Amino acid sequence: MLELHCHTTFSDGTLTPQQLVERAATKGVKALAITDHDTISGWHEARTAAQSHGLEIVPGIELSTVYNERSMHILGFYPDPQKLKAPLKERIQGRHRRAQKMVDKLGELGYPIELPSMPGTMAPGRPHIAKALLAAGHVTSQQEAFQRFIGDHGPAYVPYEKFTAQEGIALLKRCGAVPVWAHPYLFRGGIVEEVLPELVEAGLMGVEVYHPQHSISEERVLEELCDQYGLLMTGGSDYHGPQPKPKAGDVDLNGLQLSLELLDSVKQAATGLQGKG
Ligand code: AMP
Ligand code: ZN
Ligand code: FE
Ligand code: FE
Repeated sequence: MLELHCHTTFSDGTLTPQQLVERAATKGVKALAITDHDTISGWHEARTAAQSHGLEIVPGIELSTVYNERSMHILGFYPDPQKLKAPLKERIQGRHRRAQKMVDKLGELGYPIELPSMPGTMAPGRPHIAKALLAAGHVTSQQEAFQRFIGDHGPAYVPYEKFTAQEGIALLKRCGAVPVWAHPYLFRGGIVEEVLPELVEAGLMGVEVYHPQHSISEERVLEELCDQYGLLMTGGSDYHGPQPKPKAGDVDLNGLQLSLELLDSVKQAATGLQGKG
């Protein structure tokens, strides 16, 4: 019913916004958030496609930030696109610079690749590098590309340009967006119970409790933490399109069967923020 975490071809998803909307409609999704990495360029096409399917598009983003020197993703729902435009341009340019650095490192290691040319509205990510490694015949799967080269400790890995989680949360709030910590149990830079209070201090308003890579018991812990800190709860399949070789735990659109009611509190929080701004 509700799907609050998806990627399109504007970042590292494999479906265009239109294809994503069509698939979501057939899977029974009624409200679909577009949360590409560091770009909101997919919203427009998604909204146009959604009109003929009676589907509601929730405008969103997944910001790439750094916390304790590790990558941390912060979802933002209902940002004002005009306010977010300039800061995002800088983030996307940073992703282009980072992708080029990874290409250069791979070349130095003896694994030259060519990235498809990507316009400035699209945000390149490691999956694009993995695909290029596969296309060049240096690996036999994208998974192998992560394992040998571009995983967090890989020889060709390049971190995001510096942008702290606190800065990301503040930016989202300035732009009227509800900041939500994406997939806390995929974070590798600290213990959830210790990191969360610091994010709350920085203005975090919600937690992505329901995610395919969270276990049931992790979801229970997150629900309790949300109660404790007065945070709203979201969830989504983190869908990147049909995968040639699915990872353990990958689910399809609407795979989590989330209630539309979760969206009400996100909307209320956004309205509250925008009233203040
Ligand atoms: P980036 O933000 O450019 O560092 O890329 C992060 C994205 O890469 C995630 O959203 C996943 O889609 C993908 N990813 C991260 N780690 C792996 C992995 N070990 N295997 C396959 N895909 C991965
Ligand atoms: Zn991704
Ligand atoms: Fe993420
Ligand atoms: Fe994601």
